[in-house]
Amino acid sequence: MSNSLQQQVAIVTGSSSGIGEGVALALSRAGATVVINHSHAGSRPEAEAVLATINSWNGKATIIQCDVSKEEEVQHLFAETIRQFGTVDILVANAGLQQDAKLTEMTLEQWNKVISINLTGQFLCCREAIKEFLRRGIVPERSAAAGKIICMSSVHEVIPWAGHVNYAASKGGIKLLMQTLAQEYAPEKIRINSIAPGAIRTRINHEAWDTPAAAQKLLELIPYGRIGEAADVGKAAVFLASDDSDYITGTTLFVDGGMTLYPGFADNG
Ligand code: NAD
Repeated sequence: MSNSLQQQVAIVTGSSSGIGEGVALALSRAGATVVINHSHAGSRPEAEAVLATINSWNGKATIIQCDVSKEEEVQHLFAETIRQFGTVDILVANAGLQQDAKLTEMTLEQWNKVISINLTGQFLCCREAIKEFLRRGIVPERSAAAGKIICMSSVHEVIPWAGHVNYAASKGGIKLLMQTLAQEYAPEKIRINSIAPGAIRTRINHEAWDTPAAAQKLLELIPYGRIGEAADVGKAAVFLASDDSDYITGTTLFVDGGMTLYPGFADNG
């Protein structure tokens, strides 16, 4: 086990399930104190299961409820984290969802819901994190950077996705949110990067892999020949949160088994 994140405090939004859970576990394994965030009372039992896993290896963690699309709740998430642990060193802005429909059937409510959680939620969380990083500055014995942010994007920050215009627009937005903030705060030694997962086995996309026929169709899009796991993203997050990536900011790390390599061209060029 690498202890590269020892003494650092990480908030992982939407970490009661899926990729967020995988990232929370990986950061804890690397020594970080982890804030497990879930959005509503109904997801508390899942958050408690993640906490129990971290407790099983004597990791330090807490659970804080917060809907990332609500300004006051995000402010509370950070204030409560700072009250409990003194500061925040790492933000993984992961919370997200899909509400799929073709454009002509998409309601304004579906559009607004996805944009407000996937994109505005990242804006709100990045703003609170950066305020705290600027207040605290660099603590050399913990990290060479004043703070690290990892935005959970998607291959759909570059691949258009018919039937998912709200989701694709939110992820395209994250790309320039992340790059603009990286440019704005690099002089303050705050590093901001994205992870763009391909197809990772979570409930957000279960209909794409939970039958053999669906899984086979999905695998046609993945040159590396397997569906990704949350742990694959967790390992990438540890790298981007640690000083191993100290000279990396403003970049998107694709964790996609080659999905963005235009697999349709492999035998049709
Ligand atoms: P998931 O549904 O398991 O996880 C999403 C998490 O976000 C859940 O824990 C959910 O409770 C939480 N969430 C939703 N709305 C919230 C809100 N308002 N406030 C706080 N938390 C909220 O799905 P996942 O696949 O783990 O998705 C995690 C992230 O990864 C999302 O941003 C998603 O777009 C992205 N992603 C996933 C895949 C994939 O293949 N699974 C691919 C690319 C990108």
